[in-house]
Amino acid sequence: MRLIVFLLFIATGHLFSQSIAECKERFDKYLNLKNSLNSSVLFEKNVIYIVNSNGKKEFSVYENEIPVVSAYLENFSVKDQINLYNLKGTKKFSRQQLDSLKYQLDTLTKRKDEITKQRLAKSNKPLTGYRIALDPGHFSSNIIDSKVEGKFINFVSYGNEKDTIKLVEGQLTFLTAQILKAMLEEQGAKVFLSRNAQNTTAFNVPYYYWYNKRRKPTLDSLKQINEITNEQYNNYMSLNKEMFFWRFFRDYELVARATKINTLDPDLTIILHFNVDEKNAPWAKASTKNFTMCFIGGAFVRSDLKKTNNKLHFLRLLLTKQINKSENLSQHTVRSLSKNLNITIAKPNDADYLCEKGIKCSQDGVFCRNLILTRYINSPLVYGESLYQDNIYESAWLNSCNYVTYGYKVPERIHYVAKSYLEATLKYFNK
Ligand SMILES: [Zn+2]
Repeated sequence: MRLIVFLLFIATGHLFSQSIAECKERFDKYLNLKNSLNSSVLFEKNVIYIVNSNGKKEFSVYENEIPVVSAYLENFSVKDQINLYNLKGTKKFSRQQLDSLKYQLDTLTKRKDEITKQRLAKSNKPLTGYRIALDPGHFSSNIIDSKVEGKFINFVSYGNEKDTIKLVEGQLTFLTAQILKAMLEEQGAKVFLSRNAQNTTAFNVPYYYWYNKRRKPTLDSLKQINEITNEQYNNYMSLNKEMFFWRFFRDYELVARATKINTLDPDLTIILHFNVDEKNAPWAKASTKNFTMCFIGGAFVRSDLKKTNNKLHFLRLLLTKQINKSENLSQHTVRSLSKNLNITIAKPNDADYLCEKGIKCSQDGVFCRNLILTRYINSPLVYGESLYQDNIYESAWLNSCNYVTYGYKVPERIHYVAKSYLEATLKYFNK
């Protein structure tokens, strides 16, 4: 009955029925990387089980519970979801419990739908009423700070020894986000950025500032709530800026980005990145390769299902249509990027991580990847890797801010990257 109390206060999304077979299809197509979840997720005639690491069934979703459980996963905090997971376990909801949950979720869904309808009816611009989150990948905007996260390229220009190429990915993503924000707002959308300025993290301060001023209070409070042990605390406190980034801050900040985005309740999220040729490390020279690709959630392996919160992210992707919507948005994105930038769409053999860690979707260039952001963000999303920065031509083009657009002086390529995401967004919303 405590479950019902949780449901009273929070708005919900659509309640829709799905068969176990439809969920199984989603599992096979997007979620089960190299069959590694075969013993962790069981599909029976009218029920799905999550199995723990000891081989014991610990959670069940019956076919008639799918509308309620999926709405719960889309609309409730991870903390509430963990409560549901532990309280329900493998028990089946009684008819009375289910009817009561359905009624309340349905009422709340209708109320939310009404608010959405009012939001969308306000103006005649194509994206009026839509809420869009943009995540400019990484945080540094200069070579010195970017050495911590290793997201820069620095080499002598091919064919012109006097020119030095210096590119910082966190700067390119932030420029793209600013232009894309202006483009989307022009079409009426409400746009949010996961970090508010160049060279800042999701905590809206630069990394070195966070390391110097906020590291200790953050670790203190994590220790207090038993999120980290004394030993971990002492170890983290002893690490220098670079080591602390890799051992702690990188993942901690990504979770903070996702949490921030989720509180904004976006209709869709665009995660902006610029790729490199992985075989060209340490990127001290140009590469001849250049591909465009997009990632969505999925591609779990067994070890990804250790923690309860990850089981819940997995269940959300399994039971809701978010992953199908993300695939649709990503298909539009990869086509637009390829057309506007004249870049080949990546196939699985074009990079090792695509073969080893990705699942190819039905269209070339779209791959499931179980990254922190593709897993945690609770909205349809595209994680775009528009081009290879270290490519011979791209590196020279990106090195010069030769183009003025929406009041920003940027490399022309950045304008076309932003334009591609805009086109994909309009197509996704059928505008
Ligand atoms: Zn990146």
